[in-house]
Amino acid sequence: MQVFNKIADLRLYLKNKGVIGFVPTMGALHNGHVSLVKESVNQCDITVSSIFVNPTQFNNPDDLKRYPRTLEADCRLLEQNDCDIVFAPAIEEVYPDGYRLLDIDFGYLEKVMEGKFRPGHFRGVATVVKRLFDIVEPQKAFFGQKDYQQLMVIKELVKRYQISTQIVGCPIIRESDGLAMSSRNMLLSEAERKEAGNICRILTLAKELWKKEDVNFIKQVVKNEFGKTNLQLEYFEIAGSENLQLIGTKEDTKNVIACVAAYCGKVRLIDNMFL
Ligand code: AMP
Repeated sequence: MQVFNKIADLRLYLKNKGVIGFVPTMGALHNGHVSLVKESVNQCDITVSSIFVNPTQFNNPDDLKRYPRTLEADCRLLEQNDCDIVFAPAIEEVYPDGYRLLDIDFGYLEKVMEGKFRPGHFRGVATVVKRLFDIVEPQKAFFGQKDYQQLMVIKELVKRYQISTQIVGCPIIRESDGLAMSSRNMLLSEAERKEAGNICRILTLAKELWKKEDVNFIKQVVKNEFGKTNLQLEYFEIAGSENLQLIGTKEDTKNVIACVAAYCGKVRLIDNMFL
């Protein structure tokens, strides 16, 4: 496995290497990231994974400061899983002219759930992903459904800029108690880690209730269930999985996803489940 820090070196190396698969990450890698790498290795000739903690997508400075950074362990894990290239640039390499953001407005997608509660987040995500796509020029890029709204934003980004990279969405990888794997899980104390398992438990309950009950009833049950835990619910929404339009009544749609964000201590966690 080769590790590059400079764009010029990376681009030189990638010349005539066939179908490039790309897995952008912020590091502190776990098996969720590994699943994306494996998918890329299966589908492509060469797999590039980037490790870059992108400052412009953090709307909370403490979150950025606390974000785990484990480059050495990350490289070991990537190598063990047949990743070919790690691109770990410095901030100045990605943002040579300061933090200039892409002039893009995702409209509705920026107004609900993650968009609503993390203002500016998706603009930062789009800026860095566009920049990384311009550098790597991948034929395929792999993203987790764990960040379902982000996946929709990326699909919208490639449409708007007519980027030819194919976006591949991959399923959520979970811990044995159901907790969605996340780099932020490392920041949880032992007690918080136990509490965090409630997120998936409550989503699973919502999925079960969806067979018989209506949206408002489910929302009330979810609120009550979170009330019994030490988690602070930020939002729970039921939405169409094609467009993330929030659903008020059950007649609305067939393909439906429940999305949740909750604080576990200071750590903000998100998860979702198809109903
Ligand atoms: P991050 O490092 O958090 O920016 O995530 C990098 C990529 O890994 C994104 O496409 C995420 O959606 C994906 N990812 C993170 N956690 C998981 C998970 N538990 N299962 C599947 N993909 C994930």
